[in-house]
Amino acid sequence: MRERYSHKKQPMAKVLAAGLVILGFSLGVCFWFVSILEKTYGEEMAWEFQDRHIIAGEMLDNTIKDVTEVVEATARAMGNENYECNNARIVNVLRGYEDFEKLSTLSYITEDGWIYYLGLRYSMESAGPQWEGLWEELHSHEGNYVGISQSEYEDGAKHVLIAVPVMYGESRIGYVVGTMSLYEVFDGMAFNYLNQMGECYLTDYQGDILSRSTDAVIIEKGHTDFKMSILSHMNGGEENESAMQQMMEQFAKAGSGFITLTTQSNESMQISYYTMQSVEGVAFISCYNDNLIDDKIQPLIFRSVASCILIITLMVAIIVYVWATAKKSNLTIEKLAYEDSVTKGKNINYFKEFAMATLGFYKETPFVIYRFDIANFRYINEAYGHTKADEVLASCIRNFDEIFSDKELCVRMNADQFLAIIENDNTVDTRLKQYKAKVNEDARSRGIKYPIRFKTGIYQVKKHEKDIDIMIDHANVARKTLVGDEKEMVAVYSEQIVTDMRKVDRIESDMQRALATGEFRVYLQPKWDIFQNRIAGAEALVRWIKNDGSIVLPGEFIPVFENNGFIEKLDFYMLEMACRHIRELLDEGRPIYPVSVNQSRVLLHNPDYVATIKKIISSYKIPENYIELEITETVFLDERDKMIETMKQLKSCGVTLAMDDFGSGYSSLNMLKDVPFDVIKIDRGFFSESVTSQKSLVVLHKIMEMAEGLGISVVCEGVESVEQIKLLQAMGCRVVQGFYYSKPIPREVYEDTYCR
Ligand code: C2E
Ligand code: MG
Ligand code: MG
Repeated sequence: MRERYSHKKQPMAKVLAAGLVILGFSLGVCFWFVSILEKTYGEEMAWEFQDRHIIAGEMLDNTIKDVTEVVEATARAMGNENYECNNARIVNVLRGYEDFEKLSTLSYITEDGWIYYLGLRYSMESAGPQWEGLWEELHSHEGNYVGISQSEYEDGAKHVLIAVPVMYGESRIGYVVGTMSLYEVFDGMAFNYLNQMGECYLTDYQGDILSRSTDAVIIEKGHTDFKMSILSHMNGGEENESAMQQMMEQFAKAGSGFITLTTQSNESMQISYYTMQSVEGVAFISCYNDNLIDDKIQPLIFRSVASCILIITLMVAIIVYVWATAKKSNLTIEKLAYEDSVTKGKNINYFKEFAMATLGFYKETPFVIYRFDIANFRYINEAYGHTKADEVLASCIRNFDEIFSDKELCVRMNADQFLAIIENDNTVDTRLKQYKAKVNEDARSRGIKYPIRFKTGIYQVKKHEKDIDIMIDHANVARKTLVGDEKEMVAVYSEQIVTDMRKVDRIESDMQRALATGEFRVYLQPKWDIFQNRIAGAEALVRWIKNDGSIVLPGEFIPVFENNGFIEKLDFYMLEMACRHIRELLDEGRPIYPVSVNQSRVLLHNPDYVATIKKIISSYKIPENYIELEITETVFLDERDKMIETMKQLKSCGVTLAMDDFGSGYSSLNMLKDVPFDVIKIDRGFFSESVTSQKSLVVLHKIMEMAEGLGISVVCEGVESVEQIKLLQAMGCRVVQGFYYSKPIPREVYEDTYCR
């Protein structure tokens, strides 16, 4: 549970989600961009192809027209020359024109069946069947003839044949025939693009293929039916056939345009057409396949996709970097927020979240909150140094983690203050014992001889309790009741503690006003000389008499004042009241008896203490030994020598000194030897016990003997019965104080009764 419990890391999730959204978005944009690119480029290509096709068609037309003009010029020259026709002249005329660059060959066929070709003369029979075919073809036409050769020429390509009749006067004497290699035409610059992207064909209006570009592959060589061949590659859809049909109908209307067919592999094939102007019955067709476009676009798209991927990768890298940085700083923040730097354990923030999660998870398990600190840790710090002291703190956490389960947790809050949540099962005491032993063992192994003791406030968590702050507060309230160096080291939170605290609060809020308005009154309890049966003096005891007349006994407020320091003011006030009492009686000439005043141990640590006492006593001009100061032996627990010195100084102020409550604590007989006490007041607890215990009586007797030997007088407190008096008389005790003679009474009553 300790580590399993984890708080939500929302900022991280947000960063990651944002990163993913951005990534997804950019991927989407990338795909969209590529598809748009593909589409646009495809459309662009279709139009581009069509434009180029028409340009190429017009080029072809123009070239044929140019060639026709040259052939016509040749024919005219031939007609002029022919009146004295001879071989040399005919060859000469042909030579004069055959150099025209677009012409492949220029020949002359006479009406009487002679062929002039490449500077030689052939008879029709020897020239071969294609000439005979041409001859017949020409004679079936009127005027110029432009057509495509039936067969291929030496260059492996078909030729455009342009024949112009040679007229001599009104009669035709032959034909000048110019040829133009389609091979060269299709390979010309204007066709480059078309050839790269696809292939070109010349067909007649019925779709019979007349010629094709050299690298044409869509229609296999030897196949002559353009329509059927193309359709055989298509997916068989009717729209393909009707588009083809429409195109062929356009041929006769001298149209141009393009159709798009769908191939078997679902690609589209564009077929551009153009009806030739210069050659009758011939159409110029180019086709290209989608995948050819793809090939073209591919590098472009590849580049675009590559850039997209690069950008995305970069973005991903940035996102990952930001995410990692955020995560790292989150971890650091978390560490700062949830770790204690001294013990390397968790801190209070973590504790609260952990405790709430644990209590919520183990609803039926009883838990207790421990709020503890190390007694006198300041001493360990000063005696062994901060490093060693910090090691002790760290060991408190480490050992807890080892001994307690992971349902339980201990953290350091600050300084030597700890907080733990512990399962309240039947092994809890054993575990705590083990824990304390381990911490002490650790400390000893580090050379710390001072015992490590914890002051612990415990709060038992109620079922379904929710507010961890309150639980911690309660445990702390319990801990705070363990004030001073008391032996008690554990306090369990209870309603009584709260009631007591409220009482303390009330006392503290009222005390200043009460002192100012005289609510603290002096009561005096007489001390009695039992040998002479007369008064021997009195003890001043404070009473808090409230406005409503209720009386509060010192047991309720003195500890509070000792805790908050107000006791100094009260004790000096009481001393002053006692002095005033003696002074007034003296001034009135009435009898006076010594008055003893209680002095808290807190007072004696005040460096101005002796001076203040001196000032008060001298200001009332109290005769020597009429004021007695009662001091308890606990004063000498620390700074013993300094306290003895203070006692000696006090004596020089003309007061007597009494040791109060002798026998109630760690009474040391040694002290009587060292401290200049005049009186010891034997505690009533000791005395009442001695009535029943014979051994105690022996001790009491010896104390009195010793006191007498030391010149110290003895006062027995708490005398309530005549038996006690008889016993004390027998032991030689002269002065007693107790309810048997008088309870503490108001100063005025005392004065009226004893000081007449
Ligand atoms: P203490 O100085 O030992 O005073 C004696 C206490 O015993 C008084 O209680 C007194 O009323 C009580 N007592 C006397 N005789 C008998 C008896 O026969 N039976 C019983 N049961 N009790 C008897 P009180 O007045 O309640 O004072 C309690 C303690 O409070 C005092 O003990 C003293 O330590 C302290 N105290 C009282 N007044 C002052 C003061 O002005 N300053 C300081 N610092 N402490 C004071
Ligand atoms: Mg006293
Ligand atoms: Mg006493």
